[in-house]
Amino acid sequence: MKTQTRAVVIGGGIAGCSTLYHLTQEGWTDVVLVERDELTSGTTWHSAAQVTNFGMNQTMVGLKTHSINLYQELRDDPDYPVQYNHGDGGIRLANTEAQMDGYRHFASMARGMGVEFEVLDAAECARRHPLISTDNLLGGLWDGNDGDIDPASLCQALARRARKAGAEVYRQTDVTGLTQLKHDSWIVHTNKGDIACEVVVNACGYRVNEVGAMMGVEHPVTSMEHQYFVTDEIPGIVEAGHRMPLLRCPISDYYCRQEKNGLLLGFYEQDCKTWGMDGISPDFSNDLCPDDLDRITDVLEGAFERMPALMEVGIKNVVNGPITYTIDGAPLVGPIPGKRNAFCIIGLRAGLGEGGGHGWLLAQQIVHGEACYDTWVIDPRRFTGHATVELTALKAIEDYQNEFRFHFPNEHRPAGRFAKTTALTPVLAAEGAEFTVINGWERAEYFKPTPDFEVTHGFHFDEAFEVVAGEVAAVQNAVGLAEVNGFNRIEIAGPDAHAFLDHVICGRVTKKAGRVGLGYLLNDHGCVKAEATVANIPDGPVWYGSAAASEWHDMDWLSAHADGFDVSLRSLTNDYTILVLAGPKARDVLSAVSRADWSASAFPWLSVRRAYIGIAPAVVMSVSFSGELAYEIHVPNANLYSAYHALRGAGEAHGLRLFGARAVESMRMEKGYLHWKSDLITEFDPFETALDRFVKMDKDFVGKAALEARQAKGVGAKLVSLKVDIDTAPAHPGASLMQGGEVVGTVTSGDWGHRLGMNIAYAFVRPDLATPGTRTQIDILGQLVDAEVITPGPYDPETRLPRG
Ligand SMILES: Cc1cc2nc3c(=O)[nH]c(=O)nc-3n(C[C@H](O)[C@H](O)[C@H](O)COP(=O)(O)OP(=O)(O)OC[C@H]3O[C@@H](n4cnc5c(N)ncnc54)[C@H](O)[C@@H]3O)c2cc1C
Repeated sequence: MKTQTRAVVIGGGIAGCSTLYHLTQEGWTDVVLVERDELTSGTTWHSAAQVTNFGMNQTMVGLKTHSINLYQELRDDPDYPVQYNHGDGGIRLANTEAQMDGYRHFASMARGMGVEFEVLDAAECARRHPLISTDNLLGGLWDGNDGDIDPASLCQALARRARKAGAEVYRQTDVTGLTQLKHDSWIVHTNKGDIACEVVVNACGYRVNEVGAMMGVEHPVTSMEHQYFVTDEIPGIVEAGHRMPLLRCPISDYYCRQEKNGLLLGFYEQDCKTWGMDGISPDFSNDLCPDDLDRITDVLEGAFERMPALMEVGIKNVVNGPITYTIDGAPLVGPIPGKRNAFCIIGLRAGLGEGGGHGWLLAQQIVHGEACYDTWVIDPRRFTGHATVELTALKAIEDYQNEFRFHFPNEHRPAGRFAKTTALTPVLAAEGAEFTVINGWERAEYFKPTPDFEVTHGFHFDEAFEVVAGEVAAVQNAVGLAEVNGFNRIEIAGPDAHAFLDHVICGRVTKKAGRVGLGYLLNDHGCVKAEATVANIPDGPVWYGSAAASEWHDMDWLSAHADGFDVSLRSLTNDYTILVLAGPKARDVLSAVSRADWSASAFPWLSVRRAYIGIAPAVVMSVSFSGELAYEIHVPNANLYSAYHALRGAGEAHGLRLFGARAVESMRMEKGYLHWKSDLITEFDPFETALDRFVKMDKDFVGKAALEARQAKGVGAKLVSLKVDIDTAPAHPGASLMQGGEVVGTVTSGDWGHRLGMNIAYAFVRPDLATPGTRTQIDILGQLVDAEVITPGPYDPETRLPRG
């Protein structure tokens, strides 16, 4: 056994084998996989092993396409062919128009990744899958690439190829401890000796937290028991003369594929069970949980109704095994938060279908620092301090119970709520707030006009449209107050604070005391990594502010680049909350509760100072995401209610109204302001993202050399604003822009601009289509809708209002 290598991958299921293979493909051949038993002895060996192309975002579709292409290549390898039934096709069923809209949107989104899904009516579903009835069925989504693969031979083939390229695989080798050395390298302790390495990868399936504990990390992953059974031969399958497509049923919560001449059916019962939360026997390997078919009778009935032929045949065998879940159903693939040179590929609940792609994207991140797609949707840092195993278990149960019922836009499900709250949460709830969840924080989305007000979740503008319009009007004409909790705030102290920021930000960094500036951080590929508001508090440290979700992401990035600078970084994210006061009367309200001079000359746009709001200490910034005259009031959480109470009271005289995140979204679209991880992603550089004025090529910064190289090649796409000619639905993120039957762009954000009465979208488009006035079309819910490129920020284009 080697005692020194570049990377040790722990775990020999699909996740580990795929990572090992892809590391060798990306150029790291001195790598090792250690497996406590034999390859595939965790969950992988008994998987139903369906491989689908469906995903709810482009990263997921892209990585699954990679799996499918790779598996086809392995199937065709004459030296070691893998059994892969590719192209049986598959149908996701629907019995509501809202689900059908979802499928129309996902088809539009997937087209941008070169994948064609088809939206079918009920009769066509039944024609393609002759065993199903059309009762209570509207239609479905057809995925022609669906199929299934033999999991054992897939993993062996990947390991075999990795070995050929130089990697080594040590079976019966149990990792018993991990030690991080100076300079961030690792010692992996095993029952067979130690291996020193640069990088460790946790690919331990349901044992993820045993290995996590060895490095002091509790990963938000838990396991659920999951069952399928295989039937005897079904005559209808033989008669059909072709293989049955896969089925996914959100109506009765099961999936189904052909197995020999019978069917394999897997169930997501309501009466579901977590597994292994209080420890897993060391002997559980190549093992299953006891069968428990009684638990699935509810869902079984639905399957029988859909496929009456099932009632005529017996069950051949039952499989019940652990399957891992995270908080949002997507796995954790990438850097382990707060650790260096440590990565994970865990929480895979569809690991056979996705594993090829996840291993590919992880290997790229390990070797090159970033993957070809933006990987935020699978980034382990998207969950932060609230992400305990207890919360994970609640969300896992909820997700399992809704396995094929995708989340609608603005839908936030009830399990595990109130993970992060402030003193204002019950106060705003009493004011009628409907809450959205951002990085675990309960944030007001809008304020309900009546206690029983509810919206119907779907892809069209919903019943809250007029409510949001009212909140926007109050901000535009008088004054609004909003709580923005969880905003990421890092205090940068020390003599090199500005030199450090100058190093990581690609534009000019505001150094003047009392001033606020906006900057962008690039990765080593010259693409957009982060967005920061830099505030120079007059008598104190510099504050680095960024999106709530970026809390751990940005801290990791800043810490990793702070070597050599005399700075200290401290997160204040959970210590303060912002109250946003916005609208033409904002200054009057602020002046009524604070003795400071708030005139435009004493405290102009883009200023910061300390002040008291009533008796509450605060840091106030004159910045505006709404485009109106506005103040961001950062208040210590202990004083939050006090500041709120003072502002709310003073606002009475000026027609103050509370507003929520949906109103903010509408207004920022009208101002051309961007959202991190919607419009600001690692697939594009700042020139492509239309951030030219935030880049200064006459200074040095992280990512500059790569940006120069990209510049030499010319821009590949351009972020534009569009006016969209439809008033019933927004252009949802991912929707494809079409020109002459070709995809020419992808929507990143879309919403109704209530002040302008305009449906606005942002999209990355082919550079030749980026000029204002260019007309194009967007596939919105299956309809080609006309759209026109406009100059970004059509509301108050000179930005006079916030200066007022
Ligand atoms: C009943 C069922 C049906 C499923 N059907 C599908 C499907 O149709 N399609 C699909 O895509 N997915 C399906 N899945 C999910 C899929 O099987 C899993 O996502 C996938 O197998 C997980 O692979 P993994 O490599 O992450 O974990 P595992 O396969 O569990 O591998 C982890 C490995 O790590 C090893 N290990 C753990 N601790 C240590 C240690 N300390 N030292 C060394 N090695 C260690 C284990 O021995 C194990 O071999 C199904 C799952 C179940 C339970």
